[in-house]
Amino acid sequence: MKPEIPFRNPIRDKFQSAGRMDLWNDVPEKDWSNWIWQQQKRIKTLDQLEKVINLTHEEREAFKASNDLFNVAITPYYASLMDKDDPNCPIRLQSVPAPGELTIAPEDMEDPLAEEKYMPVPAVTHRYPDRVLFYTTHNCAMYCRHCTRKRKVADPDSATSNRVLDEGLAYIESHKEVRDVVISGGDVLSNSDDRVEYILSRLRAMDHIEVFRLATRNLVTLPQRITDDFVKMIRKYHPVFIHTHFNHPKECTQEAFDAVARLADAGCVINNQMVLLKGINDDAKIVKELNHKLLMMRVRPYYIFQCDMSQGISHFRTPVEKGLEIIEALRGWTSGMAVPHFVIDAPGGGGKIPLLPKYLIKHEGKEWTLRNYQGKEFVYREP
Ligand code: SF4
Repeated sequence: MKPEIPFRNPIRDKFQSAGRMDLWNDVPEKDWSNWIWQQQKRIKTLDQLEKVINLTHEEREAFKASNDLFNVAITPYYASLMDKDDPNCPIRLQSVPAPGELTIAPEDMEDPLAEEKYMPVPAVTHRYPDRVLFYTTHNCAMYCRHCTRKRKVADPDSATSNRVLDEGLAYIESHKEVRDVVISGGDVLSNSDDRVEYILSRLRAMDHIEVFRLATRNLVTLPQRITDDFVKMIRKYHPVFIHTHFNHPKECTQEAFDAVARLADAGCVINNQMVLLKGINDDAKIVKELNHKLLMMRVRPYYIFQCDMSQGISHFRTPVEKGLEIIEALRGWTSGMAVPHFVIDAPGGGGKIPLLPKYLIKHEGKEWTLRNYQGKEFVYREP
């Protein structure tokens, strides 16, 4: 059943529906808005993709050559956002294999964030003192071409069995210093509601666990996943934070707006983690538009990640200066809420390191000379 839209306001009218590609015009609305139907009808083969967009020779060849390296799966909903004829469409670049994926650059790493190195049990990375990353599935609604976890995602050998899941829960239970759990994958919402509830109820029963973060891109690629039943269940386990991954304003549709509204109305706090990607969002105007749309949707722009050094994604990487240039173009020129942290997740497992343009000109004793967003200098004197 199509979930209820929890509220209507004029802001929602600023967003457009994703619409549908011709191929799905006759699909009944009850199927189109059903996440299981969307999941079952994902585009996985070249033949299916050819029916939806006009592929270039390079895309076709890259699809064939990358088949064994990283799965393709695109929900009909997300595919409907693609430009049929433009290979540089930002939605297409994120979902359709490109020749760049076949290149392993010398600096590329299989596990750039050393997630495996800090893995005491197969489902948990424990790198920071008070929080852990918990892998609950190897599946995603869509396989993003820029995925940093390509080594695991979609690989059947990395599936989180119930035994592995319970081992992870036992580890978290026995580590009383952990207060924050990032429940991830793959995409945590590729699990059934029952499995998500099992995980949340086990964690909520642990006295030392304060907050959860559900790491999901379903708001972007499969917003139909956020059903009324799901949000009813989630309400029982607050505080629940949602970490999602919008990369481009085109992804901010009415469907995404409604999915976020359901979660926000159910009391979830939603943060966005954008990845800086060449040809997709390496432009301050695009990032500003994205962040303004996110705020209208009640999503807080939280991070801009410098693209990691994972294998087969070097064609997406921008110079680090690009991220600084974007922050410079946002800070002061728009609401602070629309200015995320620009971070590099340090290769080798050093964690997230924030980078800022140089606002401190000079510091001598108790005198701090600072520059504002317009380039004007000001002195702050400590008492
Ligand atoms: S949803 Fe996240 S984990 Fe899954 S393929 Fe995309 S980036 Fe990777």
